[in-house]
Amino acid sequence: MTVFATAECTDALLPVVGAGLPVPLVTGASAPYANLDYAASAPALRAVAEHLATALPYYASVHRGAGYASQVSTALLENSRSCIGRFLGAREDDLVVFTRNTTDALNLLAHCVPRGGSVLYLDIEHHANLLPWQRRGDVVLEAAPTLRETLADVEAALAATPTALLAVTGASNVTGQLLPIRKLAEIAHRHGARIAVDAAQLAPHRRVSLTESGVDYLALSGHKLYAPYGTGVLVGRGDWLDAAPAHLAGGGAVREVGTTGTDWATGPARHEGGTPNVLGAAALARACEELATVGGEALAAHESALRQRLLAGLARLPEISVLSIWPGDAPDPTGAPVHSDKAEAAELEDDSIGVVSFTVAGYHAGWVAAYLSAEHGIGVRDGRFCAHPLVGKLGLAADGAIRASFGVGSTSADVDRLIGALHGLLTNGPAWEYELVDGRYRPVADPRPIPDFAGPRSAVTSPCQAG
Ligand code: PMP
Repeated sequence: MTVFATAECTDALLPVVGAGLPVPLVTGASAPYANLDYAASAPALRAVAEHLATALPYYASVHRGAGYASQVSTALLENSRSCIGRFLGAREDDLVVFTRNTTDALNLLAHCVPRGGSVLYLDIEHHANLLPWQRRGDVVLEAAPTLRETLADVEAALAATPTALLAVTGASNVTGQLLPIRKLAEIAHRHGARIAVDAAQLAPHRRVSLTESGVDYLALSGHKLYAPYGTGVLVGRGDWLDAAPAHLAGGGAVREVGTTGTDWATGPARHEGGTPNVLGAAALARACEELATVGGEALAAHESALRQRLLAGLARLPEISVLSIWPGDAPDPTGAPVHSDKAEAAELEDDSIGVVSFTVAGYHAGWVAAYLSAEHGIGVRDGRFCAHPLVGKLGLAADGAIRASFGVGSTSADVDRLIGALHGLLTNGPAWEYELVDGRYRPVADPRPIPDFAGPRSAVTSPCQAG
């Protein structure tokens, strides 16, 4: 059996920190780390790390500092804000608000929806774009078996009930499938609603523009966009944000404070109380600049080549099933768009980013992930990816699935190693034994050391960490 695709090799598009990092295997050997977990947290771009090394000596307080370093840091923060806005095609009057991450950005937006306004969201969302709305008592819509039917259901729901906001993901963190955000924006606006897109997975993998798509709000995280320094953004219409109570009440969010009342700032400052994360903002801006140099087409082509290679390899292993949100749109095992009519496919944005989730018959997902790491030095994610309703709907509430995800630093060699490791497992079985400890599989008597700088191996596990 041919395990590897014979298609042309794909190299990394941009250099990332940690490429080729040697990691220990349980057998005593070591292997270059194959990072196939970009959808959880992507590695830093080398350009981002270099930019921060340049900026760090000038790091100082921002906005009110008179010192030279404060002036440099203030310029860096505010220029980073403008750069991120430009990258995301922000309109003239859109605000770019720095947040901790996407979760924080969507929670901020949830308390800015005008009083009494209802929000419509789908049951396929990551918890970050589900729980803020569920907690407010908003309206959840079950995704239908096909994308086309789902769009019709969204339209019907918006027509039936006055809605302030439609909140959808741009790309699924479970299956990588894109949602047609331009079309959804048209539908929402036709019914007087705004649209917020959870771009945590979309923005690192496809160019997205508020102006061109008509989307009202975008939320994203730096750590998925090759800038893992603790910053995210909410970008979009200023009116709701200026009218809402400050997200974090504290210094920086105010113009004047008395003992009995406060004059709150407007603009981004209103929601950025406390000392801002200047270096996180600079990192995110530098990552945006670097992605812009690659261009959207090259970004999409790189991921599409890797995705097709992976899907073709997985299709040769009959024990493996690949997940799809829309069971009525049966996924093509070669990764080709489901809709053969090109115009229809383009209209529906019938395409996927570099995220593929699958199950292996006869093996628990967590067991497979432990095996891939311990015996092959491959990092993937397993579980329910903080999307419990979707994974439950796919019939995997008990065991979850395995997710391989990639991006600009990934190569065809990474993909081939995953396919080879799965083929090896299904042909020869594992070389080590694994045990279930506190709900996670791990190699019995794991001999792999953790480097000194990190301290002892952590025993902390969570059923739902940053899916
Ligand atoms: N939305 C999606 C689609 C995601 O994949 C994630 C992270 N896995 C989030 C939101 C939340 O991102 P963060 O943990 O950075 O807040």
